[in-house]
Amino acid sequence: MPPDVDFGALPERADDAAAPESAGASRDPAPQSASVVTIVNASAATVTTVARRPLFPALMLVARELSKEYRSGDNRLAVLRDVSFTIPQGAFVAIVGPSGSGKTTLLGLLAGLDTPTRGSVLIDDADLTAMDEDERAKLRGQKVGFVFQSFQLLSTLTALENVQVPLELRGESGAGERARELLARVGLADRLDHFPTQLSGGEQQRVAIARAFANAPRILFADEPTGNLDSDTGGRIVELLESLNRESKTTIVLVTHDATLAARTQRIIRLSDGRVVSDSAERAA
Ligand code: ADP
Ligand code: MG
Repeated sequence: MPPDVDFGALPERADDAAAPESAGASRDPAPQSASVVTIVNASAATVTTVARRPLFPALMLVARELSKEYRSGDNRLAVLRDVSFTIPQGAFVAIVGPSGSGKTTLLGLLAGLDTPTRGSVLIDDADLTAMDEDERAKLRGQKVGFVFQSFQLLSTLTALENVQVPLELRGESGAGERARELLARVGLADRLDHFPTQLSGGEQQRVAIARAFANAPRILFADEPTGNLDSDTGGRIVELLESLNRESKTTIVLVTHDATLAARTQRIIRLSDGRVVSDSAERAA
């Protein structure tokens, strides 16, 4: 029989600054800190303290029985049906599925751009579905980045301004410098003054990625970010997302219908007709 786990001792969420692994096997009567969980084996009357992180990785995103319906007249169109999954902090996940399967709708719900008919979405423990539009907008500004298939750059602004202006609108000082750094990070240090029409598709998407990273999001959603690009350029965009995921520990949720690109992520969630039909994390479990 497994030992009883004292859930009451759990911190709200694990943290990157968890205790060193060497503390894991300690039987010292350690104080209850954010890095430990106490396991009480009632029959043997022993108390063991173990490192917490391997047991309960912190969740960045929770989708709980999400459904989305659209009404037209008397008809109801179910676009998402009971979609549930969890995504741990720092993961790099692909959502795949045929056109019309609900991928864009799902990403909009997960990012708090849209609201579900039923179910809930938690980002970093905050329930988006309990918030009003202003609160969701605030949370998006603090924690969420979004990259669209069609780049959605402002055509009258240069690459630098496209990244800088949203930062300025948020009242941040040093916006110009941060925008330059971000554009250098995506390999566009020598394209700062180019307008979108003077940039290739891949370059435009890199500007959009730099813009999405401007607020140092904890989670980045990208809807078919390579959909308008040739496969080589698309591959480089996914490489860029991979390195940003690795280096900044940003959780990334990518929608794609390109199986080759999806295969480069750590996990593939497959949608069909609004339902999750497979999840590679569940096969592995
Ligand atoms: P995908 O991104 O997988 O191609 P979408 O999420 O864009 O799929 O769309 C899923 C289904 O929902 C489609 O059948 C689409 O027509 C329908 N849909 C999306 N948005 C709306 C809307 N605002 N009103 C009605 N139907 C919609
Ligand atoms: Mg779509």
